[in-house]
Amino acid sequence: MEPEFTNSVLVTSGEDSVIFDAWGRVDDWQKLLESRKLNLRAIYATHGHSDHISAAPELARIYNVPWYMNLRDLPLVLWGNQILDFWELPRISDDFVRPNDLHAGKTKILGDIDMEIIAAPGHSAGGVMFYFPEYKILISGDTIFRDGVGRTDLPGGNADELHKTISDLMARNLPDDTYVVHGHGMDSMMKDIKKRYL
Ligand SMILES: [Zn+2]
Repeated sequence: MEPEFTNSVLVTSGEDSVIFDAWGRVDDWQKLLESRKLNLRAIYATHGHSDHISAAPELARIYNVPWYMNLRDLPLVLWGNQILDFWELPRISDDFVRPNDLHAGKTKILGDIDMEIIAAPGHSAGGVMFYFPEYKILISGDTIFRDGVGRTDLPGGNADELHKTISDLMARNLPDDTYVVHGHGMDSMMKDIKKRYL
């Protein structure tokens, strides 16, 4: 995990916004939201490693909005404080705002943006990916990267599950021009990921 390269995603619609993988410091997010005059409506996490959720519980408390994560990753939240210590970032407090559970299936964000939540266990037990069919954008978390796959040696990791998750993703045959935002590093296109697996 190299949190300096974690990719967070801010989705906006008018004055409303949603954060995916609220990494980093709470006050930086506050400054960003204030400077862009955005209302925060919700926070979603691809998985429970601290470099993807470090700001989520506190932002949820400050803005009184829900944050969503598959609860199979709940045990990872406080485990991850050792990584935040390493990066000299504020710890998540023991009485952190609990996430709402996140299940595979279709939903909408910000009123009218279709979003599909795709179960993606392997890198962690509760990992998910987010797919936006109208925009052909996939937020992959740490399941796959531009040049590889997620590690499976952290708590909740399972190499067989990761393999199946990637097989299932390939079976979906998302459009070649789907833009993929990975949990770390450079973005990529689905056609390049398919080349590696099909
Ligand atoms: Zn991770």
